[in-house]
Amino acid sequence: MSLPGPGPRRPRALCQGVPVTDDEPGGPICSAKGCRAAAVWALRWNNPKIHTPERRKVWLACDEHRAGLSAFLDRRDFLRDAVPVADLTDRDG
Ligand SMILES: [Zn+2]
Repeated sequence: MSLPGPGPRRPRALCQGVPVTDDEPGGPICSAKGCRAAAVWALRWNNPKIHTPERRKVWLACDEHRAGLSAFLDRRDFLRDAVPVADLTDRDG
């Protein structure tokens, strides 16, 4: 009888594996370091130590990095909300 052990580790699909069209001018790109994937989410945050309360900084994230980036902001109490990139307005940023 054999217990199910950890199987062979399959490399997780990285953002780099996602086809990105380079010829999309101004297309939003994930803010995660080294990631070139198209952004799907906009994480809106504010650092009360350096920003006025109304100010919103925006990090863009692909599906892969959304959780990590928002956890980073959330740990510091910076995260205000996360919206689909399409919902961003000109006043964000
Ligand atoms: Zn990414």
